[in-house]
Amino acid sequence: MEFINLQAQFRRLEAPIRARINAVLEHGQFIMGPEIAELERKLASFTGARHAITCGSGTEALLMPLMAWGIGPGDAVFVPPFTFFATAEVVALVGATPVFVDVDPVTFNIVPDQLAQAIEAVRRQDATLHPVPAQALRQQLTPRAVIPVDLFGIAAEYETLLPVASAHGLFVLEDGAQAFGGRYHGKPVCGLGAHAAATSFFPAKPLGCYGDGGAIFTDDDDLAAIMTSLRVHGKGANKYDNVRIGINGRMDTLQAAIMLPKLDALAEEIDARQRAAARYATRLSHVPGVTLPAVPPHCVSAYAQYSILLASAAQRDTVAATLHARGVPTAIYYPKPLHRQPVFAHLEYEEGDLPISDSLSRRIVSLPMYPFMPESDIDTVCDGIESALRDATH
Ligand SMILES: *Cc1c(COP(=O)(O)O)cnc(C)c1O
Repeated sequence: MEFINLQAQFRRLEAPIRARINAVLEHGQFIMGPEIAELERKLASFTGARHAITCGSGTEALLMPLMAWGIGPGDAVFVPPFTFFATAEVVALVGATPVFVDVDPVTFNIVPDQLAQAIEAVRRQDATLHPVPAQALRQQLTPRAVIPVDLFGIAAEYETLLPVASAHGLFVLEDGAQAFGGRYHGKPVCGLGAHAAATSFFPAKPLGCYGDGGAIFTDDDDLAAIMTSLRVHGKGANKYDNVRIGINGRMDTLQAAIMLPKLDALAEEIDARQRAAARYATRLSHVPGVTLPAVPPHCVSAYAQYSILLASAAQRDTVAATLHARGVPTAIYYPKPLHRQPVFAHLEYEEGDLPISDSLSRRIVSLPMYPFMPESDIDTVCDGIESALRDATH
């Protein structure tokens, strides 16, 4: 069994994908060919954003808005600790300080009330209000932005987050890398009112290409113009007129070509993921000691991951080992929250500062999940979990 079977999707879309690749090989515009503009138009219409700007990865999609806003040393950017490393990495990359805000134990997304407290704690240099990096006590950091993550496919609570951010003058950068195709109050992820949204087209994401890729979404014309320049070495009127320091942040034409048929299939695949999730829920909802993903009624999850919680670290490890022995691959997202990563040791977070993220990292396990996953495979996974827990309690 595979954790994510990308080959199954390729077989369904093989003819149009091969035709699109061939078209690029024929016209030969490998950099910024016509497929890039076509994909950007379609991504903008899919999300309802005024601008969709493709780029080389989800990491670059997170980086460029921070660069465009001039965020750097002395600035604080608020991020959840329970996410992929890139969310906080880009903050440090521009020289700003990540300030971690714990996540909700049910949705695993950043908690708006705690964001408000963390902003106050940075403003007043007072760690009794909320844990902050040691540096934020020694030096007055300026709160500049928050990066809510739509973890595992479920959108963060933007209706509450956006007013908190705007009350404190913060930019909101949605990290939708795991949720593209998902919905929140009927609206598409990456079109939820943030100043900018970033997503990744890494092959295993809900919408993936066959390599690295990403996109940024915004309704802000000025921001879009700056990011379009940043993407090509800070170009001005042309590539040899450099008006700012940028990067080489372009997506390959071939990747855009591959994604066009995949974008057409996305809605159907999101539906198929709902059916796989429903099957898991039917089989696992009565199993004691297993907590299933709880998708709020106003959200449609893109199910980038189907992650369950066990009662303890020991039970999680037993379940993973039993599944492994039965040929079922699992993954642990994320075994170490970002505030405990060695590279962030200088922030001096202490044990217990962000207890929900710590607890989740010990109890979570992600199960195989992809569109059109055979029901029999889902049953095999569920049989393994039931058996592991039965043995564990005897
Ligand atoms: C995958 C991911 C990224 C980074 O995307 P890449 O395309 O791998 O650079 C950023 N944030 C989250 C939450 C992700 O899951």
